[in-house]
Amino acid sequence: MGIVIYWDYRSVDGIQLPVQRIISDLTGCSVELILGDHFPLDGYHGIRRQYDAGRIINRIGMFKRLHGIPDHFLLVIPDDIYADSTDFVFGLARESIGSAVISTARLENEYYGFEPDIHQIIDRTAKEGAHELGHLLGLQHCEDPECIMFKPESLSELDRKQKYFCPECRLQLP
Ligand SMILES: [Zn+2]
Ligand SMILES: [Zn+2]
Repeated sequence: MGIVIYWDYRSVDGIQLPVQRIISDLTGCSVELILGDHFPLDGYHGIRRQYDAGRIINRIGMFKRLHGIPDHFLLVIPDDIYADSTDFVFGLARESIGSAVISTARLENEYYGFEPDIHQIIDRTAKEGAHELGHLLGLQHCEDPECIMFKPESLSELDRKQKYFCPECRLQLP
């Protein structure tokens, strides 16, 4: 089964192809890139000014059914997201329906008041995308802080990760 990345056009522009290539190299899967419209989002929380990632994933499930898409599906959006009791999440995946979402909001240097850096945003988006797709491919979180499947709580933990699945995780990849 392949991977589809749906890139909401409002997300960071100009990095789609390198992110697609890195994710394909990392997972060993063929990756189709859809340069998409404004993906219809559910679950906006007006006080938090964030979207509920679980509700977005429900919506991805509907979208996949409507369009007959069997592949693992990763949605990339620029909107800040949260899940359950967390302040925010970089992304969320639900293996049962092969659907995941990542937000580039907190991957961009600008969010923290730093100068933009194209290499960093490519790196972070690819790592976070590969992480959520790793869940769709059946992987759990990993203790190795350099492994893609390590769960980062902060940007520095995300930056510490390498673009690789550790040997144990790689064994579980299809
Ligand atoms: Zn995870
Ligand atoms: Zn690992």
